[in-house]
Amino acid sequence: MLSEVQNWARFPRSRSILIPVNSQEQEIPFDRLDVSFLPHGMGRSLGDSCLNDGNALLTTRGLNRIIAFDADRGRLVAEAGITFDAIMRLSIPQGWFLPVTPGTRFVSLGGAVANDVHGKNHHCAGTFGHHVVRFSLRRSDGSRLICSADENAAWFRATIGGLGLTGLIEWVELQLKPVANSSIDSETIRYGDIDEFYALNEESVSRYDYAVAWADTLSGKGLGRGLFIRGNHNTDPERRERKAPAGPYVGIPGVFPFSLLNRGTLKIFNSTFYRARPSRKKAVVPLGPFFYPLDSIGAYHRIYGPRGMIQWQGLIPSREAVREVLTASTRVGGSFLTVLKVMGNRAPAGLMSFSGEGVTISLDFPHSRNVLETRPRLDDIVAAAGGRLYPAKDARMSGANFRRYFPQWQELLPFIDRRFSSSFWRRVTAK
Ligand SMILES: Cc1cc2nc3c(=O)[nH]c(=O)nc-3n(C[C@H](O)[C@H](O)[C@H](O)COP(=O)(O)OP(=O)(O)OC[C@H]3O[C@@H](n4cnc5c(N)ncnc54)[C@H](O)[C@@H]3O)c2cc1C
Repeated sequence: MLSEVQNWARFPRSRSILIPVNSQEQEIPFDRLDVSFLPHGMGRSLGDSCLNDGNALLTTRGLNRIIAFDADRGRLVAEAGITFDAIMRLSIPQGWFLPVTPGTRFVSLGGAVANDVHGKNHHCAGTFGHHVVRFSLRRSDGSRLICSADENAAWFRATIGGLGLTGLIEWVELQLKPVANSSIDSETIRYGDIDEFYALNEESVSRYDYAVAWADTLSGKGLGRGLFIRGNHNTDPERRERKAPAGPYVGIPGVFPFSLLNRGTLKIFNSTFYRARPSRKKAVVPLGPFFYPLDSIGAYHRIYGPRGMIQWQGLIPSREAVREVLTASTRVGGSFLTVLKVMGNRAPAGLMSFSGEGVTISLDFPHSRNVLETRPRLDDIVAAAGGRLYPAKDARMSGANFRRYFPQWQELLPFIDRRFSSSFWRRVTAK
């Protein structure tokens, strides 16, 4: 029976046969169902790479046990459906934090590997995949591969960032990062335009583990102006509190009948947010608000209304193209949240990893025809600059652009499980 499945953007809509996988021993009906299969973690992706419309999803929320935790070395082995939230509830009280984390803690371990997610520390820590020691990959032919940098190394590289297509990751061994407590020494700096952003980033990357910026793309004043946020883990021996992030604190009760976000409300929000901050503010803050500000509002995506939202995230190698994207995004009609991050130059952990050298810009739009018609222009700027779009956030890049962004895509083909597929993969590889 097909059930409706949503990603975090609530676009596109999709229906699948749901097959909960609750243990590693569980039989999966690969031979009994004449459909393709795709693992599905927490559905926090904002595109169709976690969807398999008309086919089956192997849902992993029940595959969520801790298998082993060495609190002396910070080595964790856990089943792939466990969330970052659950990992932190175990590890932070014992002095260990995630080596890399995206902007929400409600992602699964398997989903983080399959998208090779990045965080605010890409410039010094690379991506999540750089911290994965090994994992078990279950294939539809009944085989299991233990994959690491030394064992089945090609499978290891293909599965990190492999979009769930190489098989079901059953468990992952991960190296965590030591922390003295659960606080961050943070600093927020108001900056006037994109050149100031680059200058701030340059002075920050050698001194701060985390650096990111929120930009106002609506006011038309100071291209890319915004708030630069940087931080390090607090090391004060007097500060002993080791608490995992909590919340959400604000619930969004249902889907709004229309989008609350229009150009008018967005413009006021962006200007007020920018001006209300002091030009420079230092604070010691808990991990939660620093890493996961959006998690404090439950299902925040519902404020985008019944048609959902479109998120666009590109990796843009040149400063000129960054300017072009920011200028074009202002014209598109407004991004509620624009996030900029300069990435480091570490070689990607996975064959199809999104991250690489350049600036990533992520833009949020309420879903509308206007965005659907205008967005390809942004895609083309990225393609011309030699960058790429993030499949985890995409529901509509063209197949032609996908092949330009990921010229190595055919190298993934030998590793794709013959029974696995996704809505994303069918869309971008269709002739
Ligand atoms: C508020 C918010 C902030 C975010 N911030 C960031 C960010 O800063 N950086 C970033 O990189 N991403 C970010 N993301 C995107 C998110 O981190 C990724 O989409 C992540 O992969 C979602 O994990 P999931 O468990 O929800 O996986 P899903 O969305 O369910 O699936 C993602 C992919 O993983 C595959 N998969 C899932 N489980 C398995 C498994 N067991 N075996 C094999 N494949 C599997 C799926 O097939 C799919 O291809 C953000 C998302 C949100 C909602």
